[in-house]
Amino acid sequence: MYVVMVASECAPVAKVGGLGDVVYGLGRELELRGNAVEIVLPKYDCMRNEQIWGLQPAFENLSVPWSGGAIRCTVWFGFVHGRKCFFIEPHSDENFFNRGAYYGFPDEAQRFAFFSKAALEFMLKDGKRPDIIHSHDWQTALVPVLLFDMYQHIGMPHQRVCHTIHNFRHQGTTDLGVLGQAGLHAPQRLLLPDKLGDGVGPRAVNFMKGAIAYSNFVTTVSPSHAWEARHTEQGFGLGDALFRYQDKFGGVLNGLDYEMWNPQIDAHITAPYTASTFSRKALNKRALRSRLLLRQAEGPVIAYVGRLDQQKGVHLIRHALFHALSSSAQFVLLGSSPERGIDAEFRQLKRELNDSPDCHLEIGYDEELAHLIYAGADILVVPSIFEPCGLTQMIAMRYGTVPVVRAVGGLKDTVFDWDHSDLPAAKRNGFVFEHADGEGIDSALRRVLGLWQQPKLFRQLALNGMAWDYSWSYPGQHYLNIYEYIRHK
Ligand code: ADP
Repeated sequence: MYVVMVASECAPVAKVGGLGDVVYGLGRELELRGNAVEIVLPKYDCMRNEQIWGLQPAFENLSVPWSGGAIRCTVWFGFVHGRKCFFIEPHSDENFFNRGAYYGFPDEAQRFAFFSKAALEFMLKDGKRPDIIHSHDWQTALVPVLLFDMYQHIGMPHQRVCHTIHNFRHQGTTDLGVLGQAGLHAPQRLLLPDKLGDGVGPRAVNFMKGAIAYSNFVTTVSPSHAWEARHTEQGFGLGDALFRYQDKFGGVLNGLDYEMWNPQIDAHITAPYTASTFSRKALNKRALRSRLLLRQAEGPVIAYVGRLDQQKGVHLIRHALFHALSSSAQFVLLGSSPERGIDAEFRQLKRELNDSPDCHLEIGYDEELAHLIYAGADILVVPSIFEPCGLTQMIAMRYGTVPVVRAVGGLKDTVFDWDHSDLPAAKRNGFVFEHADGEGIDSALRRVLGLWQQPKLFRQLALNGMAWDYSWSYPGQHYLNIYEYIRHK
């Protein structure tokens, strides 16, 4: 099959979170299975160009109709660790992607509506006729809308779209004007509740709702979250739309790229290891401590890696930090937040704990340090309020680090409690707690720290986690089945 992914992120060249990992990892898996895959991305000024091999112009004067006129674009081509990627660079006063950051601007809806339009225009004019277009999240949610409302009538009649929702919270709500700018004819007609009409917030248009209505298939990133999105407030107002289109909606658990995340060959860690050389993990713990100026103590290192966002349970992360410090454990945090309040809170905490030899807070984004933390820590906490899938708990298990997670979304689908799971003992791989409060996370931390006192059992639990297969192998096939199904519709 010929698949084109259209997305706002792809690891490691342009990555903010799990979306980037998924676009890269799924792309690679599909190629390994003999499919042709191309990835279309914006050409951000802040992306990591050193991660692209052979970057060169592929289409010099792509004229993309926009707002009654047209914007000239250059489309670049390059390999990102083997993946074939096209980068769209618009030349206009708006400077859509030359802002020094990936997200966070007032004209966000215009930026990504333009990108979605430009991606289709590129396919149309470059003669690309993929079997499947796979779009992701609100940023590219207009792709199916534009394809089926417009492009299928002007040269792309056979293309089918699978749209994946990685986060329901951000839906791309905006005013009607953007649809007109994108060239959709008489956009008022799209404001119906079963199309793009928002009906929830004060803005009229909801891009994500459009993707749900127009795509041939819609997925979210774990089976539990597919249920939560339909039946709880975690759908952020889209439960009804998902119900209406339930026949083409499902949850597919994300995979992990087992090349990128592999303790046996990881170039960013000090001492590579496998399950059979597990004792070498201790060398990474030693290296992590010396890099972060922590003392070489007896106790475990508890870590958090991820965005610092209300979604991630920031109050519980903070709670876990103090629990660790009062329990002879150490705590390492790597995270960043675009929200000023949260950023300030954690910077203040960092200042307060500056002299502690048992705690380090690294505020920022650091891909390489993340690898060393997964390898060097003993325990990783993921106390999310909601979590569509979550990759960090799966990465932790891949590195023999025990996850402590809240029972929600994909965390519930991947972590099985050492004491309480229904699975056989050899399958249990972490600790799970229910309530999003201090008592909830304390109960799990007490249990994990209790098990730490029994090194043989703790090691067994870590090895149980390493034995699980969270690669793209199974979900890759699942997506191919979906593609095959919609291709003939
Ligand atoms: P989300 O997509 O909600 O951000 P996921 O758990 O799905 O969360 O994916 C997070 C990914 O981003 C993981 O690969 C994690 O290692 C990485 N990550 C998040 N924050 C940072 C950071 N500050 N530095 C390095 N890597 C990070």
